[in-house]
Amino acid sequence: MNPPSAVAPSTPDSVSDEASLISLEMHAPVDLAEDLERFRNKLSAYLPPEEVTRIESAYIFGNTAHLGQFRSSGDPYISHPLAVADTLADWRLDAQALTAALLHDVMEDTACTKQQIADKFGKAVAELVDGVSKIDHIENQSFEEAQAENFRKMLLAMARDVRVILIKLADRLHNMRTLSAVPLPKRRRIARETLDIYAPIANRLGLNALYRELQEHAFRHLRPMRYRVLEKAVKNARGNRRQVVGKIMESLRQRLPDAGITAEVMGREKHLYSIYRKMRDKHLSFSQVLDIFGFRVVVNDAPTCYLALGALHGLYKPVPGKFKDYIAIPKANGYQSLHSTLIGPYGTPVEVQIRTHEMHHIAETGVASHWMYKDEDALSELQQKTHKWLQSLIELQSASGDSAEFLENVKVDLFPDEVYVFTPLGKILVLPRGASAVDFAYAVHTDIGNRCVGCRINFELMPLRSELRNGDRIEILTSPHANPNPAWLTYVKSSKARAQIRHFLKTRQHEESVALGERLLGQTLRGFGLRLGDIGSAVWERFMRSFGAKSKKDVLTDIGLGKRHAVIVARRLAADRVAEGGVAATKKTNGAIIINGDNGGAVQLAKCCQPVPGDPIVGVIRKGQGLVVHAHDCRSINKAGHERDNWVDVEWGASIDERQFEVGIRIVTENRRGVLASIAAAIAESGSDIQNVGIDDDRGAYTTLNFTLQVSNRLHLARIMRSLRRVPEVVRITRTKSGAK
Ligand code: MN
Repeated sequence: MNPPSAVAPSTPDSVSDEASLISLEMHAPVDLAEDLERFRNKLSAYLPPEEVTRIESAYIFGNTAHLGQFRSSGDPYISHPLAVADTLADWRLDAQALTAALLHDVMEDTACTKQQIADKFGKAVAELVDGVSKIDHIENQSFEEAQAENFRKMLLAMARDVRVILIKLADRLHNMRTLSAVPLPKRRRIARETLDIYAPIANRLGLNALYRELQEHAFRHLRPMRYRVLEKAVKNARGNRRQVVGKIMESLRQRLPDAGITAEVMGREKHLYSIYRKMRDKHLSFSQVLDIFGFRVVVNDAPTCYLALGALHGLYKPVPGKFKDYIAIPKANGYQSLHSTLIGPYGTPVEVQIRTHEMHHIAETGVASHWMYKDEDALSELQQKTHKWLQSLIELQSASGDSAEFLENVKVDLFPDEVYVFTPLGKILVLPRGASAVDFAYAVHTDIGNRCVGCRINFELMPLRSELRNGDRIEILTSPHANPNPAWLTYVKSSKARAQIRHFLKTRQHEESVALGERLLGQTLRGFGLRLGDIGSAVWERFMRSFGAKSKKDVLTDIGLGKRHAVIVARRLAADRVAEGGVAATKKTNGAIIINGDNGGAVQLAKCCQPVPGDPIVGVIRKGQGLVVHAHDCRSINKAGHERDNWVDVEWGASIDERQFEVGIRIVTENRRGVLASIAAAIAESGSDIQNVGIDDDRGAYTTLNFTLQVSNRLHLARIMRSLRRVPEVVRITRTKSGAK
């Protein structure tokens, strides 16, 4: 364990120029042999020899794959994966993670495939490498700055295995350490991304030392001037305050043993980025940022922390309101410590952190500190460990009471139940897991949802119901005439999509019913020599009052849906109008309802007689069904003895030819081989599609075939029947009128 920041030598002189500052200019040409030796020693300290050997074989494999590739610094490429694996060894990660770290760029940068890695190093390692490569892919997409939080969640959701994130973080750390070699524009982009994405992830996982170091590197590359000025100011201040700090350190070292407390005391320096942020956020000048010095007191157990706190408060007065107990109430990432600011000699404020060794360890390495090595390699084992870690956080947190909310946060943070996808403009949208392109379309805009007809996922044409995956780029194709499909309701996952689809369907049905009701009533009124416009509002008012209807529109809807009889309503309105002094004529005028085929749910073609355009038809109003269109000679309406009052004049519209209608025909043929094929060919030649075919079971000289065909009108049907009669085996053709079999 050798985190680069934190621990400083423990003498008063420790607050010197070098103390606890991250060494930012560490680049000298690498010595691979030396690095490899050090790495090997680290591994041997906690892994069995056979695993060390296996990891070394991954190094050799990686080296061969990357042979001839160099980093911007001029170093051989393998020095990078080696450095990444070295960091992971500091965190004591398992052999799989280390192997994957050594191979983490081979899929991206060389011809090596996932399968090759799986064959040689096992499926688990291949999955890890694949996971890191997927994140690299996402990284190259642009994202809007305001969406950093969603981007972080997207990365976590994609990783699925904490080890992927740890490898990615170690990868980023090494890239940041060697960023000076990278050309300027790219350098700034990487630094920005580190500050917005990777440092916060490190913080969330409790990798404190890493978090600070990433911030420090990013700050230096993003704001080189400010960084240099601040660096110099801190150096000077340190010189000025050296005496004071030395004095405080000495007093602390004396006071604690006097109180019977065994403690390690270390000088601690604020990082430049956190000083900079404080100045920027609180509008302070450098001289106003006083607590640039701090001390860390590390003791053996939690009760001693409080004893030490008491002893220090006895030594220097604490600044009121600055005390924080993160032992009783740990931070969300598991961080624990007591924080207090004391007023030192000459009024210098001194920040003190008091913690146990274990808390210190967790504070520095976070999730990695919970990494217990074990040679069992099942992923479920790993998930259990992660779960255990979360569990331990929850237990810590339950002291503060609000554990449900906390659990919610951690869960969302690490393993989101959501899927994160890009719009074509690089905006990130968050959808429930399992969401489809339809959900996406509605998330963009209701109009896009209502008009969507297809989609491109990662530039490839895909069906709308395709399930979206993290990092997908989605483009929705729309058509101005498209409408939502009720079938979408069976698979959409977001409540917005569901609600909007329902809303659309309901509104449309309602509008259709109103329009139909209006036409039906208008037609019936003509029978009384009136037009709809002749009915004044007073007449309507009286009607609604006596029939308990809320509005005129409701009455029309009811008529459209067959809940009220147009004749009864019309008769009543007409009578009322006559009573009012209007004139009622008795001459009937023609005002048939036009059937256009686009009447939607409010108009249905009867299943029993299957009328097609050109057939003489009659409309029947059915309660709750609206208008059903039958052939005028349909037996079912005549037999059922419908009240003629429910019959309505209907006419085929002129534009009806563009649609296709189902119709049933029955063909009796001689029972000969190949006859079905000739009939099908004749139907196809006449420009019709066969929807369905059934064969009656009479085995003899003749067979009866029942077809359901698509035709555009009566003439089309006649043409088909004519060409079928030319098939020699066909004996008889009839149109099926009693419903499809
Ligand atoms: Mn890399």
